[in-house]
Amino acid sequence: MNIHEYQAKRLFGQHGLPVPVGDVATSPAEAEAVAARLGGRVVVKAQVLTGGRGKAGGVKLAAGPAEAGQRAAEILGMDIKGHTVRQVLVDPAVSIAKELYLSIIQDRALRASVIIASAEGGMDIEEVAATQPEAIVKVVVDPLLGLQAFHCNQVAFGLGLDPAQHKAFGAILRGLYACYQSLDATLVEINPLVVLADGSLMALDGKVNLDDSALYRQPALEAMRDPSDETDAERLAREAGLSYVDLDGSIGCLVNGAGLAMATMDVIKLCGGEPANFLDIGGGAQADKVEKAMRLILADGRVKSVLVNIFGGITRGDEVAKGILAAISKLDTQVPFVVRIVGTNAAEAREILKNASMRTAPTLYEAARLAVAAAAG
Ligand code: GDP
Ligand code: MN
Repeated sequence: MNIHEYQAKRLFGQHGLPVPVGDVATSPAEAEAVAARLGGRVVVKAQVLTGGRGKAGGVKLAAGPAEAGQRAAEILGMDIKGHTVRQVLVDPAVSIAKELYLSIIQDRALRASVIIASAEGGMDIEEVAATQPEAIVKVVVDPLLGLQAFHCNQVAFGLGLDPAQHKAFGAILRGLYACYQSLDATLVEINPLVVLADGSLMALDGKVNLDDSALYRQPALEAMRDPSDETDAERLAREAGLSYVDLDGSIGCLVNGAGLAMATMDVIKLCGGEPANFLDIGGGAQADKVEKAMRLILADGRVKSVLVNIFGGITRGDEVAKGILAAISKLDTQVPFVVRIVGTNAAEAREILKNASMRTAPTLYEAARLAVAAAAG
């Protein structure tokens, strides 16, 4: 899950990082009021869950409250990379002497946290990495050891900071690391971390990616979820505890186990079809979960046939079969189904499905072939 810049910066502030003291607004009048409260020049920033807002015209300076209202009117409703702007952040404007980049990410291959920093901040870090890789500082932190003073020194020297700034920078990096850990984040990023005219540092932008699997123990962060960030299908799947990814094809897939779901998609392609989704109902799925999964698949108008591939281990085949029949009877669908169930209670499942005149197949290949043919009409 991603959160907005203003939410990220509030969390940074709670961890002791220097951040601007602005506020969000959902209308030009509100933006004007925030600007009046702050006094002086302000910056009006689109709050959308994507980067590159500056380049897209979603970040604008304003001399005072009236102009802030005008800028907000221009930015609100704007489309930035497919995201509609529904709120803006109004922050006090600052004079920037230099823009730096600073982030901490999880590196699965290294099984470590990695600090990435660059004196070439403000712009796309991917672009810096591609064109001037020498301008990027990378410091690996063993998660069991945690962030140490020498890591902070390494980054501060790597950024070419003035020794007088090292102490303040160390405090920022420690705060950012504490934030990264306590939020169960997979990424925390400040771009730009600015050096102001007086040499002090400030986090002007903030990005936080959270680990979805840890959200159960982060209720305050779960409450920050922006409902416009996910499709209806994704929301239904999340609430039902299903792993679901929407794809472009015509064959709906209902599978238990992520590996089996990947294999099922491969075999559909091998048979000349295209999967409409990835859907893993997980182990031990009960009939009501199967029904929710079916509803999810059938809500996609592009689905022309559905392939159900179940390997019964903990999941009982007869439970799945009952779930399929319950869903079909309630949904009154004309979409053809092909079911392949093996493993625990497969014989009972076949019996239930046969009695309901459902099409079954003994192997995955045969099931995929039938589903592809059915989707083709
Ligand atoms: P992004 O383009 O989505 O990453 O949005 P940012 O929050 O990084 O803003 C883009 C750029 O706007 C920054 O790199 C700064 O150059 C500029 N900017 C943001 N806030 C201020 C400010 O208070 N004063 C000035 N002068 N520039 C700012
Ligand atoms: Mn930025």
